[in-house]
Amino acid sequence: MAITRSTDLSLRLDRIACEGHGACAELLPELLSLDEWGFPIVHSATVPPELAAHARRAVAACPVLALRLDRTRP
Ligand code: SF4
Repeated sequence: MAITRSTDLSLRLDRIACEGHGACAELLPELLSLDEWGFPIVHSATVPPELAAHARRAVAACPVLALRLDRTRP
């Protein structure tokens, strides 16, 4: 499982659960792209506040719940 940190959010990708649907990378191209097999590559270790809404949409679009956003601050 890859973990990326931001000022207050962590984007977590469960590579075992991921089935390579690609919806996440379409909705969050600033942080994710797809490899040649259609599986996401996390490009940034941060989720800037201005991308938080896009990140939430990407998480919601994942049909197998392989992508999560966790708060890093209470
Ligand atoms: S939407 Fe979910 S299953 Fe599809 S590539 Fe992204 S993390 Fe994987």
